[in-house]
Amino acid sequence: MRDEHECTAPGCSKMVSTRMLMCRHHWYRVPAHLRNAVWKTWNNGKVQEGYRAARQAAIDSLAPQPRAKASPFRKHGPLLGRLI
Ligand SMILES: [Zn+2]
Repeated sequence: MRDEHECTAPGCSKMVSTRMLMCRHHWYRVPAHLRNAVWKTWNNGKVQEGYRAARQAAIDSLAPQPRAKASPFRKHGPLLGRLI
């Protein structure tokens, strides 16, 4: 039983447990309050309202330029499909 998926951090392809959003390296670069928000809404797999937003905020916190300079070409990047 090896349930793994790719780390959700931009550009990282490490395989991590499905119970974790990212590899350790990236997870600990996410600000603590965002990590807490992800844990709270994740609730051991019983995903709560707000989980997607919390997860996206965590992922965005690792992006070099979050939103401000987003070009139309990056709006629907390849990552989106993977995060569902
Ligand atoms: Zn990673």
